[in-house]
Amino acid sequence: MHIPKMICFPCAVEMVPAKNGLVVEMLMDGRRPYYMVSTDLYRCPRCDHGVTVPAQIALAEHWEPNYGTHTAAIQAEFAP
Ligand SMILES: [Zn+2]
Repeated sequence: MHIPKMICFPCAVEMVPAKNGLVVEMLMDGRRPYYMVSTDLYRCPRCDHGVTVPAQIALAEHWEPNYGTHTAAIQAEFAP
């Protein structure tokens, strides 16, 4: 399987994984919960800029009746 590489464009170097399983919550209109997803954080070894690459499947979505309870459990599980 071909896995694409991420290159920091200004530095022209490959970005490296910094943290796997970083959980983020996406918001609608900048404030309303939309979904929670696991991401991988990559950083440029030269300039330290970072990007997250989200998984294709959400951990929880806003329309689920237990979204608040589910996200609280996810936050507790993935807390640093
Ligand atoms: Zn860079």
